[in-house]
Amino acid sequence: MDDVAASGAGFAGVTYSAFSGWADRPSQFAPMLEGELSCDIAVVGGGYAGMAAALRLAERGADVVLLESGFCGWGGSSRNAGYLSNALAGDPQLLRTLYARRLPALIRYADRAAHFTEELIGRLALDCDYEATGNVIAAVSPGQLRRTKRNAEILRGAGADVEFVEGRDFGLPATFLGGVFERAGGLLNPGKFALGLRDALLASGVRTHERTAVRAIEPQAPGAVVSTTGGRVRAERVVLATNAYSRDLAIAPRWLATPVWTSLVETEPLAPERLAATGWTRRVGIITPHTILENYRPTPRGTIMFGTRRLRTAPGALGAREPDDAVVADLVRGFHERFPSLGDVAPRRAWGGWIAMTSSLLPIAGEAAKNVFYAIGCNGHGLAQSPYLGTLLADRLAGDRTHEDLAAVWRTRPRFAPPVFSAPALHAAWTIDRVSDRFQRRRG
Ligand SMILES: Cc1cc2nc3c(=O)[nH]c(=O)nc-3n(C[C@H](O)[C@H](O)[C@H](O)COP(=O)(O)OP(=O)(O)OC[C@H]3O[C@@H](n4cnc5c(N)ncnc54)[C@H](O)[C@@H]3O)c2cc1C
Repeated sequence: MDDVAASGAGFAGVTYSAFSGWADRPSQFAPMLEGELSCDIAVVGGGYAGMAAALRLAERGADVVLLESGFCGWGGSSRNAGYLSNALAGDPQLLRTLYARRLPALIRYADRAAHFTEELIGRLALDCDYEATGNVIAAVSPGQLRRTKRNAEILRGAGADVEFVEGRDFGLPATFLGGVFERAGGLLNPGKFALGLRDALLASGVRTHERTAVRAIEPQAPGAVVSTTGGRVRAERVVLATNAYSRDLAIAPRWLATPVWTSLVETEPLAPERLAATGWTRRVGIITPHTILENYRPTPRGTIMFGTRRLRTAPGALGAREPDDAVVADLVRGFHERFPSLGDVAPRRAWGGWIAMTSSLLPIAGEAAKNVFYAIGCNGHGLAQSPYLGTLLADRLAGDRTHEDLAAVWRTRPRFAPPVFSAPALHAAWTIDRVSDRFQRRRG
């Protein structure tokens, strides 16, 4: 959490933040770990996955210690765009090619994840501005429209709760021609959601230690020893819920996931009539089917938030970071292209965070070493999936048989393909998207 104070003005006067634009940092933290503890299960990482796993384990009667290097919710969990989606990452046609047999089970997992997280919001009475609007993967060109039509068929064929919709009839802004409407899920404030989960965690029986970075985990019969800067925890079992940060830990399997930096920009507030004048009459989150997606959503504070489009990687440990000018400038350019009538609406704030991309494009859970388990890598779709994955893993550790949805993403061996999300590959993907945009503009 060495970036707490970082923030500043960047491209076109946009204020950059090294945390999230959705919520303020908590004013008080759970105590750092000092000295030695023992417990049934140690959870490393207090994002959605870790908090959900710890809460479930405590509910099931386990003695749980959660260790978080910043504060719970500090990672992607409080920073994301707030799309609660029932989709998997990746183009459906590619997924069908790669996982023909597994696709229905994966789609069922993703759909149940969205419903699970919706129920969690209700069960814990989390005030996070949740709107059950669904989301649309919306095309900006005739070519993308044909692709989304085909994708809707592929997804429906595999059991997904989606339908193809025409843009204007459905209430999308004029630039968006139509696409795949995901009926489940919607939009929320992820900062409030993450910090609400944190409140539930701190009020539970879980012994939570914040500002406590785990440095090493060593399997030691009959369990494992977790070493932090100021102490040690002896646990029967350990859950790694460290997501994009996993590669900083030697025990994490090689090539588990690639950390990818994702950025968001938020505009100044604008009058609802201006939004309606773009054709955006239905309050719904929009995601484009580019190689690297673009996302546009209204917020309850009357602003528009947009992001992704251009991704970054970084070698070594993941430290303090703000969005960079080139990415913010490109995002603003994209916003003006998609919303030509809003050229005068000023971008005000920007931030970003690390997501964990897996080479398989699938979320993963498994056993990294004896008694050390992991649940990570929702490829930018963890708002729904990470709490679900954490809970399913907790149920397994509490003695249940492996749930079919956990089985759908379970890795029997901790072996992974080399990373595909290198800096050149991400740059190439961005270039392809821009070339195809230019081509479509010329044809249009
Ligand atoms: C900008 C952005 C936009 C996104 N938009 C969406 C979206 O709209 N919809 C969606 O579904 N998903 C989205 N995501 C992805 C989503 O936020 C993540 O998939 C999800 O938050 C992952 O949760 P997690 O608990 O696995 O990881 P994280 O929230 O990253 O939590 C991991 C935690 O582990 C802690 N940690 C790591 N290493 C250690 C260590 N050694 N010791 C102690 N603690 C450690 C970290 O501090 C962190 O708090 C987005 C992500 C970003 C960054």
